[in-house]
Amino acid sequence: MPILEDLLSKGYIDTQSNEVNFNYSKIKCPFCSTEYNLEDGIYNCTNCKNTFRKIGFNTYDEKKVSNAAADYLVQLLTYCAKVDKLISCEERDFIVEYIESFDINEDQESWLFAQYDYARFNDYNKNVILFLKKSINQLCDNFNLEFDILSDILSVFFIDNDTLNSNQEEIIKDYLSIFEIPTKIYKEKFNEFLKHKLDNDKVNKNHKHPLDEYYEILGLERGCSIQDLKRQYAYLCKTYHPDKYNSQNVPYKIKKEMEEMYKKINNAYDKLKNNF
Ligand SMILES: [Zn+2]
Repeated sequence: MPILEDLLSKGYIDTQSNEVNFNYSKIKCPFCSTEYNLEDGIYNCTNCKNTFRKIGFNTYDEKKVSNAAADYLVQLLTYCAKVDKLISCEERDFIVEYIESFDINEDQESWLFAQYDYARFNDYNKNVILFLKKSINQLCDNFNLEFDILSDILSVFFIDNDTLNSNQEEIIKDYLSIFEIPTKIYKEKFNEFLKHKLDNDKVNKNHKHPLDEYYEILGLERGCSIQDLKRQYAYLCKTYHPDKYNSQNVPYKIKKEMEEMYKKINNAYDKLKNNF
């Protein structure tokens, strides 16, 4: 583990472009509250000797997180999702599933969600790719990881788009230059990705998501929040509650239909509520 001074002297500054690091900010050691002005990274506190991670404006007990590569990866994918203006429900789903696909504990997972939040509220800067590369270089089994990540980036870009826009091209350009991937190789990978995507789209067209019918019953879209679900459920329950039509002079047939609907709403809510 490098000591604080060691990391500070090396820094994470992009010496070629001399860019000022956007992740340089005042933070406190999570154990003893000693103040530091640090770049993102892993440090040993000079006062209490504990190890902590600094990302954005937060510090974290290093024992509770895995490695920084996952952090920067989640940040980068979030920037990629946001580059076409808003993070759509599908893009959010992709990142949430991505985070949940890591084999990590709850603490680590919530840390990764914090990286997602951090990137949502900050602007893209290519330093995130520089950090990612440095973190990946420290992993022992990093074979071709840069191509897997490239494919993940493209996956995010193509969720809401059919072609790459200039902002997306910019991120790709940064990525290729930092990971030293030649354009020729990128073009090959890009075509591979597109072909794979087209094949997948064909398969997916015939397969609806198993929970889709429940969302339809409640009039919601997949990717809505738990608050949306609860609000809509409360509203529909009130509308279709038996008390409402039993006390009124409603024809038998309508009563039956409303009863059925009430059952369906409750069943749909039961099926969906545990998926958040
Ligand atoms: Zn400390």
